[in-house]
Order: sequence, then C-alpha cells, then structure tokens
Amino acid sequence: MDRREACGVFGIYSFRKDEVALPIFNGLIAIQHRGQDSAGIATFDGKTIHVKKGMGLTSDVFSENDLLALKGTIGIGSVRYPTCGSSSLRDAQPFKVELPREGITLAHNGNLVNFTALKDELNRGGTPIISSCDSEIILKVLAEELNKTEDIFLAILKVMKRLEGAYCEVVLTGRGELIAFRDPQGFRPLCFGKNDDCIVFASESVALDINDVELTEQVKPGEVILVTEKGMERRLVAKSNKKHCMFEYVYFSRPDSILDAGSVYDVRMKLGKNLAKSQPASVDVVVPVPDTSRPAAEGFSRETGIEMEEGLIKNRYIMRTFIMPDQTIRDAEMKKKLNPLKTILKGKRVVIIDDSIVRGTTTNKLVKLLKDAGAKEVHVRITCPPIISPCFYGIDISSHSELIAFRCNGNVEEIRKILGADSLGYQTIGGLVDAIGIGKENLCMACLDENYPTPGAAKIAKEMKKRSGEEIKEKKRYWEM
Ligand code: SF4
Repeated sequence: MDRREACGVFGIYSFRKDEVALPIFNGLIAIQHRGQDSAGIATFDGKTIHVKKGMGLTSDVFSENDLLALKGTIGIGSVRYPTCGSSSLRDAQPFKVELPREGITLAHNGNLVNFTALKDELNRGGTPIISSCDSEIILKVLAEELNKTEDIFLAILKVMKRLEGAYCEVVLTGRGELIAFRDPQGFRPLCFGKNDDCIVFASESVALDINDVELTEQVKPGEVILVTEKGMERRLVAKSNKKHCMFEYVYFSRPDSILDAGSVYDVRMKLGKNLAKSQPASVDVVVPVPDTSRPAAEGFSRETGIEMEEGLIKNRYIMRTFIMPDQTIRDAEMKKKLNPLKTILKGKRVVIIDDSIVRGTTTNKLVKLLKDAGAKEVHVRITCPPIISPCFYGIDISSHSELIAFRCNGNVEEIRKILGADSLGYQTIGGLVDAIGIGKENLCMACLDENYPTPGAAKIAKEMKKRSGEEIKEKKRYWEM
C-alpha cells in the first residue's frame, strides 16, 4: 500500500436557510483530532458551489473573511491527514467535479482497499486521476454512476458494488442536494442529528454537540441519506455486514463521542477495568498516558483501588504523535509533548496505562522518561491487545515490520525487554470485546486477529506478511551479530 488516510467529515443542510460556513468550521474544529494536515469547506448558495481548502489546522486555513465568502445554506467540510507519503494541497478535500448534477463535491473518511485497481480502471476509461487520494476516486466513480441514472440511491448502490474498503461520504451537489452514505461494514463512524432547523452529518457526535444539535442516530452501514428541500429520505441500499473498527473506541475517537456502541468514554473506562482484572499490577500509583488513556486509567484505578495520579503532564499545544506523517517528526514531537511530574513519581512503583503499542518507540521513550524522573519500577498496561497486522481501512498501521508485536512474534516477554519495562500486560481480545459491548461479529479486529472483513484486504495482508517475514529474518540476523 502506498498511501492511506483517515479523516473527519461534516455536512449540514439548513432548512431555515441560515448560512452554514461557521457551523461547518466549528464542526471541523470539534473533529480536528481526526486529521491535522489539511482542511476544506464547500458550500452551495443556490447557484454556485464555493470551495476553499488549505494545508494545516482548520483555524489556520480559514479566516473570518474566508467564512464570509463561503456563501450558502448547504455545505460539507473535511479534515484530513495522510498516513503515508507526502502531504499536499493536491490531495486536500473536498474534491469537486463540474458534472453531472451541475457539480458534485465530496468529502471522504476511510480508505479504499482497491484504490489502484479503480484508478487504473478510471484512467483506462478516459477519466484522469490527478491526486493520490481515495476521495477523488470515489467522486469520479460516483460521477460515472450518476451519469447513467437520475436515481441517486441506485447510483450509490452501484458505487458500493465497485468499492472495497472503508468509506463515509458527505456529498454536495449543484442541485442543492446533500447526500451521506456509509460502507456496508461501517468501519468508520458517521452519525447525524436532525431538528426543525437543520440536519447535520459528522464523523463524530462531538461535531453535533458544538453546534447544539442533538444526536439522532448513526448512519447505518450500507445506508444512503438524501436531503433536499423536500426533507430527508433514507434507504438501506446494500446489505449491511457490520464490522465497526475497534480502534475508534480504543484510541481514535474523542472520549465524549457517541459511536455505534455508545459512549466512547464508557468503553474506555471498562477497558481499564477489564485490564485490571486480567493484568493486575502490584504498584503504588496508576498513571495515565495523556489524553486517550485517562478514562481507562480511571477504570484500572477503580478496579484495583490503587490511586490514579497525573504523573505525565502534556503540553497541550503539541498534537498527537501517532498522526504525524513522518517518523522523524514523530520522534521530535514526542520529546516536546510529555513532561514527568517528579513529585508524583519519585521512588514509586508506577503502572502506566496506554491505549496501544504500534512501533514500540513511544512506549520505550516513556518508560525511560519515568525512570529518569525517579520511578522505582515502571509497569506497562495496554488497553488494546497486541497489534500484529496492518490496517487497510484508514488507520495508520501500514506494514508488518513496523509492528513490534509482529517483529517479536507476539512474545510479550521479548517486547517487555525492548520497552525496558518491569512488566508488560495487554488487554485480552475477550476483554476488548466485552468493553465495547456490541459482539465480536460486529467488530473489525483484523489488525489483532488477521480476520480481514473484505477479501482484497485479506489477500494483500497475506502477501505483505510473507514479504515482511523475510525482511524480519534478515533484520534478526543483523541484530544477533
Ligand atoms: S484493521 Fe484494525 S485499525 Fe483497521 S479497521 Fe480493523 S480494527 Fe480498525
């Protein structure tokens, strides 16, 4: 895989004909954690679709004058991050085509597994693809299908048959239509809130909260929702086969969001409790790795009766390390991000609660940071089971060889030694499923158990695993020297 992305999307239709640029801007601020590389807004004023997009945070991309210029009462927005390769304005969303339906603009969250095959197919058919972004592919496939029929639901059914992977889309047309659709597995979240004034779609419910719109429900996997001046029409066009991404609960979504399984905060609290039951630790203090792991650390603390203390203070102006596009940038950012609180840590046996270990480099640095600050022992407890396989559905886990759990063949003791921790304990798959509470059959856990819900991803994973295994054998020989 040469490129991958996960983003946040937002869409709004004002029945009261209020201007929507500011609510979109606010919504994007609320889901900024889903992508910090670029941001974009498209609005429709009854005649024209206006688009403005740029590199950086939402607040950097849009000035007050930009928002005033984005006229219209219907609109969509996007925050994006690339998880591989370079980031560029060429790949920023929303994407737009001039025809059919007097113009279509689309914002996308997810990742297509059959990106390359579709790109070749479109190029062969005379539709050039200029970016390296899934959104452009989806938009052009949608445009092809809408060229064949006026029936939006039928066109999107045809689109769904051609796409493999994770996709949540919000679409704006030059006929004043707002459309939202979600892939049949529902890998990534997409919800909506509707009242007499407006309907709002968003990747996470926090983008509704900020606009004082109550959450109505989640868009169903395989569902299309069309909003026009006549109102809202919903149709399940594809048979749903729910496989919600477990990582949205463990790490990616905001704790104050409500996803398909309910409150992310509640799930994380239970993850901490379940972890404490299966992987207890004889320590003096429980320390969360800010911010994602705070509810889980609270759960761990409640379950064990060991006090939780803020032993690591986060510089709130540094963004997440995980979603920085390049490893060298990630390393530098990590050092600036966390400062240990020596008065809490000195001479103590500490357990840190973190959400996941991908490469192991961050955890290794954290353990050292705490020991350097005077901690007597540092125990590591992880709310996610070991990640052993890549993700092809929009989370930045791109190869086997970068995964410490794969490199160590799942050997926890070997991983512990690399991390330099006094002990290491992972969540069990049972503990994870129990905490999310919607049944194993409704979850994607492919990066943990290699059961990819779609055939193309299973095939790619198998080929990559073989290649990585060979790479690792070579590296092991090198390390042993
Ligand atoms: S492979 Fe892992 S990260 Fe990717 S969608 Fe499935 S559970 Fe989520």
